[in-house]
Amino acid sequence: MFRSCSCSAEHSGDCTMPGVLGRRAFLASAVGVGMSMAVAPGAVAQAAPVPAGKKAFMEEATRLAIESVEKGWGGPFGAVIVKDGEIIGRGQNRVLLTGIPVFHAEITAIMDASARLNPKALLGSEYGAGTILEMIPREPGSPDPVTERARMLKGCEIYINGAPCPMCMSAIYWSRIDHVYFAASLKDTSKIGFDDAFQYEDFAKPWDQRRIRVSENFERETGLKAYEAWMNKTDRHPY
Ligand SMILES: [Zn+2]
Repeated sequence: MFRSCSCSAEHSGDCTMPGVLGRRAFLASAVGVGMSMAVAPGAVAQAAPVPAGKKAFMEEATRLAIESVEKGWGGPFGAVIVKDGEIIGRGQNRVLLTGIPVFHAEITAIMDASARLNPKALLGSEYGAGTILEMIPREPGSPDPVTERARMLKGCEIYINGAPCPMCMSAIYWSRIDHVYFAASLKDTSKIGFDDAFQYEDFAKPWDQRRIRVSENFERETGLKAYEAWMNKTDRHPY
């Protein structure tokens, strides 16, 4: 019988991979760069408190970016999420460390802040205890077809040392963050070899003109079965 362990291999008996749990915790802590979660071996130490102020927040995002460069963890990108004048999430690019192409600073900062604001969710300290997402009514005049949504990171700001790529900007939309502050421009980012700008251009084109081939409506009826399952679920939790 296969025994489940934290590594990705299926095997019987005890897992002999050293440090797997530590590495997993480290990934989760990049999710909590510095501040919020237990610091696993190799993770950054507890960050010093950052004085409130927009300039200080950008300096902290930049500090995280430089740390990532110096440690060889990823590109020069860092982000902090601020609520009521206090940093509640930190992230830094860890693509080189993890080999995971989406390990961007904004994504990890969003995960860090979300884990803190939703402690009953998977990455939170009270996982398993009741409902996880607080619902708030839609804003007056909103075209949203749903009357309430989960709060997510509404009421928060994000500070990023460089312009967000389209993936991270989309993540910011999903998070309902109110305000984005970024320092270096897309043009500045292109100059150091990270070409995010073309993705923004590509997104504006029809599906069949994009750089990556997209087969639109392929097996649509099959895919729609999952949508039906969602709509038929009477106790579904909107978000
Ligand atoms: Zn990004």
